[in-house]
Amino acid sequence: MGLDRVFSTDNASTGRAHVSAYGSGSLPAISYPGGTSSSSSSRIDYYGYSGQRKRSGPAGTTGLQNLGNTCFMNSALQCLSNTRALTRFFLDGSYRGDINRDNPLGMQGRVADVYGDLLRQLWQDDVAHIAPREFKSVLQRFAPQFSGYQQHDSQEFLAFLLDGLHEDLNRVRVKPYIEIPDADGRPDEEVAEERWRMHRARNDSKVVDEFQGQYKSTLVCPQCNKVSVTFDPFMYLTLPVPAIKLRNIATGTKGPLTLARCLEEFTRAEQLSEDDSWYCPQCKEHRQATKKFDLWRLPDTLVVHLKRFGQSRGWRDKIDDLVEFPITGLDLSEWVIGERADTASAPIYDLYAVSNHFGGLGGGHYTAYAKNIATDAWYDFDDSSVSPVSESQVVVSSSRDGAGSVEQK
Ligand SMILES: [Zn+2]
Repeated sequence: MGLDRVFSTDNASTGRAHVSAYGSGSLPAISYPGGTSSSSSSRIDYYGYSGQRKRSGPAGTTGLQNLGNTCFMNSALQCLSNTRALTRFFLDGSYRGDINRDNPLGMQGRVADVYGDLLRQLWQDDVAHIAPREFKSVLQRFAPQFSGYQQHDSQEFLAFLLDGLHEDLNRVRVKPYIEIPDADGRPDEEVAEERWRMHRARNDSKVVDEFQGQYKSTLVCPQCNKVSVTFDPFMYLTLPVPAIKLRNIATGTKGPLTLARCLEEFTRAEQLSEDDSWYCPQCKEHRQATKKFDLWRLPDTLVVHLKRFGQSRGWRDKIDDLVEFPITGLDLSEWVIGERADTASAPIYDLYAVSNHFGGLGGGHYTAYAKNIATDAWYDFDDSSVSPVSESQVVVSSSRDGAGSVEQK
């Protein structure tokens, strides 16, 4: 069944940060069972890889075989597997109590089931790598776009998986119907809080607890100055990577492209195009309004997606510039205009995983760098092959050779 094609990675090619997730909030220590597996001796025949060698690193450094262009999936899975709070929630079995088999928006709990199984294999078995066939087969049943053996986008996959896990683990059994009241000029704090409460009344899961934040979007009519403010939840931040030309015009400098610069671009007010105009309720006309995004509330674990496959002047191409971002102490205070969900701590994040993309649009290869939850050491996950990598290499790769990433404080 299926073909095991192992990618050869061109180490000389330049990877670029693709997805970064940042986490915050200290969590109590947890010990991860390592060593020999007690539960799944039948697995060996089932997956058909008997006689496999044992992994040399600690628990969590098991590789994922490439099932034919599935490096996009493997990369995202390894990033997610090294997300402390979510992995602990699965490994200690807490997730079972939340599985929602009746949610029409979910997948009868099947995605949560197979993801839990996969995490147990990654953290509790002692083999060098496993073939995530069962996971892939369940996933593609619910997401036919990921069936077959084409290359996909690791961010697109991660977004699907997080959403699927959220619905499968939604503690809300019957979603209440909620009518959204108009902001009506009320203070932002009040409207944002109201919208968040309404969102949580329908969406209450470990995934939301951990990954979701809220942003504010403001539209201003150029004709009558009508202001429309909305607050929406987000699971990850998609940041535009400004192209070099635009950057030079905007700043007059050739300074390094930093994550802060991408955030600046994200929060920059922009006039809507004619095709994308806004229906102003006051003018009762479509207007090319000014639109601005601001971060209002940040999650404990922040996934940052650097949008390198931009559309500029009809050209679709990958923006391959280096984006510098810190490994520790990413401070987003100046970008958050509202309150943090966890008001006790500042929005300061450490990097803990990176999904890297090498090569061109619609192809190429994905790998991941991730920091082991138990040992805090960094590893390079390249499908079946997992090897230690120094933090300085992650820094260099992240900013220069480029790597995508995930962080936790
Ligand atoms: Zn107007």
